[in-house]
Amino acid sequence: MTEKFTLEYAKTLDQADPLAHYRDEFCLIKDTIYLDGNSLGLLSKRSEQAVEDVMQAWKTRGIDGWTEGEQPWFYLPEKLGELMAPLVGAEPDEVIVTGSTTANLHQLLATFYEPENGKTKIVTDELSFPTDIYALQSQIALKGLDPEEHLIKVKSRDGHTLDEEDIIQAMTEQVAVVVLSGVQYRSGQVLDMEKLTKAAHGRNILIGFDLCHSIGSVPHDLSGWGTDFAFWCTYKHLNGGPGAAGALYVNKRHFGVQPGLSGWFGSDKTRQFDMEHEFVSAGHAGAFQMGTPNLLSMAPLSGSLEIFNEAGLPAVRKKSLELTGYMMDLIGHELAGYGFQVRNPADESRGGHLFIEHPEAARICRALKEERIIPDFRAPNGIRLAPVALYNTFEEVWQTVQKLKKIMDGETYKKFENKRGVVA
Ligand SMILES: *Cc1c(COP(=O)(O)O)cnc(C)c1O
Repeated sequence: MTEKFTLEYAKTLDQADPLAHYRDEFCLIKDTIYLDGNSLGLLSKRSEQAVEDVMQAWKTRGIDGWTEGEQPWFYLPEKLGELMAPLVGAEPDEVIVTGSTTANLHQLLATFYEPENGKTKIVTDELSFPTDIYALQSQIALKGLDPEEHLIKVKSRDGHTLDEEDIIQAMTEQVAVVVLSGVQYRSGQVLDMEKLTKAAHGRNILIGFDLCHSIGSVPHDLSGWGTDFAFWCTYKHLNGGPGAAGALYVNKRHFGVQPGLSGWFGSDKTRQFDMEHEFVSAGHAGAFQMGTPNLLSMAPLSGSLEIFNEAGLPAVRKKSLELTGYMMDLIGHELAGYGFQVRNPADESRGGHLFIEHPEAARICRALKEERIIPDFRAPNGIRLAPVALYNTFEEVWQTVQKLKKIMDGETYKKFENKRGVVA
């Protein structure tokens, strides 16, 4: 069937797409195919309005914006946590919007990493995002231990993906905590988080996940699985905006625990302004907040979470798999023999982006940008392409593969240097 590779076919897919109307909800960049929603999601009109609402409240209410108006700021981190909870399969009070990915990982390790009685090691993997590794190393060092000895990085067999069995093998009786990414930031592999949680708990080990690349893209059931903790950013698939506040999840069974890094915004809200020197914990995920929330950096989430809850994550995931599946089919058909290697899993253990390697990747990305297609380069030779369910189309996927072919046939990438920019 060759019909599948025509522009007409792409258009029929768009016509049948039940999420197609959400595209109009976003501020699309003029004449541009944006495939970088896994690094920085696009602005939605509802998010823009939500920021405007905070500005208005500030303008018209001043200090009273904390407690008055439609969205009193004092309660916003909890409220956004409730709206976000369905995306991770958590109960409403198990999620709080606060901090950043890195800061939240520090908070959670400061709370849950208690090396004692020979159980002193942390298991992660060699494909982890660098900031996660730095945080793990420094938390081990803060406990007076040597990160070289106490941080176990499970190896990848193929350099791109992890085998859950290898991770489980590493869960020895010396291990206190396991920290892994739900979706690998390069290959896009989705780990079997349920299986890993069960395996860790069977060995009396705590487990937490970095959900930066899975939140808003892949469904989770953290409460159902019983995962101990998780943390993520909100500026990738969640479209929270540059530097948007992060979020974290703590399972109910840990609600009584004293936060490793306490601050007054972790207090029971009815007691916070008693200004006592004795910390009275909020008693839910909110306890892990520290200082005054960054209101302007979380406001956009009011709008974007509304869209997610309306569209429903199952529908988002379904379309995402269709978009990436279609893109892989087109790449297989149009770009065979051009030196591209698709490194993301081909099956449904792939997340929301494709990861393609090519020796000339850096300058192919520049050539794509010149054609007004926005990819994401990852050194030394990786191209990430994320067709996003809420705002990309099947036609854009088709156009992208055609443009790639044109760039390769015309060798237009050769006029650029094969080097990454400062931010890539
Ligand atoms: C994007 C990303 C981060 C970013 O951390 P910040 O603290 O938000 O800068 C961390 N870990 C992973 C896996 C990521 O994909």
